[in-house]
Amino acid sequence: MDHFTYINGQLHAEDVALERIAKEVGTPFYCYSTATIARHYQVFAEGFKDIKATICFAVKANSNLAVLKTLANLGSGADCVSMGEIMRALKVGIKADKIVFSGVGKTRAELKYALEAGIMQFNVESEPELNALNEVAIELGSTAPIAFRVNPDIDAGSHDKISTGRKGDKFGIQWEKAHEMYEIASNMEGIDVQGVSIHIGSQLSDLNPFERAFEKVAGLVRSLKEAGHDIKRLDLGGGLGIPYNSEEIPHPAEYAKMTIAATKGLDCELVFEPGRLIVGNAGVLVTAAIYEKYTSDRKFLIVDAAMNDLIRPTLYDAHHEIVAVKEGDPAKRPVDIVGPICETGDIFAKRRLLPQVREGDLLAIRSAGAYGAVQSSGYNSRPIIPEVLVNGSEYAIVRRRETYAEMLGKDQIPEWL
Ligand SMILES: *Cc1c(COP(=O)(O)O)cnc(C)c1O
Repeated sequence: MDHFTYINGQLHAEDVALERIAKEVGTPFYCYSTATIARHYQVFAEGFKDIKATICFAVKANSNLAVLKTLANLGSGADCVSMGEIMRALKVGIKADKIVFSGVGKTRAELKYALEAGIMQFNVESEPELNALNEVAIELGSTAPIAFRVNPDIDAGSHDKISTGRKGDKFGIQWEKAHEMYEIASNMEGIDVQGVSIHIGSQLSDLNPFERAFEKVAGLVRSLKEAGHDIKRLDLGGGLGIPYNSEEIPHPAEYAKMTIAATKGLDCELVFEPGRLIVGNAGVLVTAAIYEKYTSDRKFLIVDAAMNDLIRPTLYDAHHEIVAVKEGDPAKRPVDIVGPICETGDIFAKRRLLPQVREGDLLAIRSAGAYGAVQSSGYNSRPIIPEVLVNGSEYAIVRRRETYAEMLGKDQIPEWL
């Protein structure tokens, strides 16, 4: 469910025509819907209203300050994977005691910053990280609240590059080592053991891997408690998918029901780290057609957005729905929609059915709110594109387009040249 609909033949974000934004902002640009972000957050939160749960939005999915502020106002916490993300979360008013710090490679500088900020929980992923955190905490004369991220060895069944809970993946503490690590940590002066965490992957379209992982980790919580560890928090990660195409995705209410059943009787606060689910369908990438190009067996539609703006199709073979912003001709024909970048992989879609599109006509690449703008780069010396947030009949530019002066100004030519 989202708020991108046709009104009088024109695709709108809530009450604002995308064509109007395109005229004022230029293309390409990302456009987000406040109502969709809020709805997704609330639907997810609703499932856990009867239990003690904290929702920490996974900032890496969309870290625009206006998006984060929208979520902060709804009561969301933040799951951060870098010092920069923690800064963003704090900047929009998310309280430190609702911030989780994840990631396999937190540096000492980042650990120190997070500890001084007073975050809720460090999700520790290795023994060297535990040692570093202990040392940093002792130096600061404080103690770090931790959960170990354990690797449950469960295949999320989604794309290889976004499955994170299998034995060979770089994430988490090996399952068999968990008890030993909790024992070591509980004897450290700078460490306060508080929880257990997992995150098995992203874009899951099936509850089954979640259920197996949650039941497995619930067993671990019980045995850790029996061994005398005070486990008061269980962080179950993110990962619930969204329908990019025609996938059947379980409703968040079903996910909540299953989760509550799988963790029943643990007497733990639950933490969730949804990212994609909250913002994925709350964003579109609006792009204009540059040329149509015909070869003997193909029609290419070359658009002004490219893989540097949205890399998901190239990186994950991801499917994104692509629609004409102006409802056109019902007669559709197959085209390959490609960007201008000098890479064969710069393709948004192959053999997609679209009405006749002319130079300058606008297209919307849907479901681009998560892992879109955040993964953009300046490859091919293309300026980073703007982000716009719509709220009812208003909109605001929440990140302006990078200028050529800014782009060139970052480089420096050494004196000897
Ligand atoms: C990426 C990530 C998430 C969010 O995943 P989604 O699929 O966007 O919900 C949550 N937790 C951790 C540790 C992550 O790395």
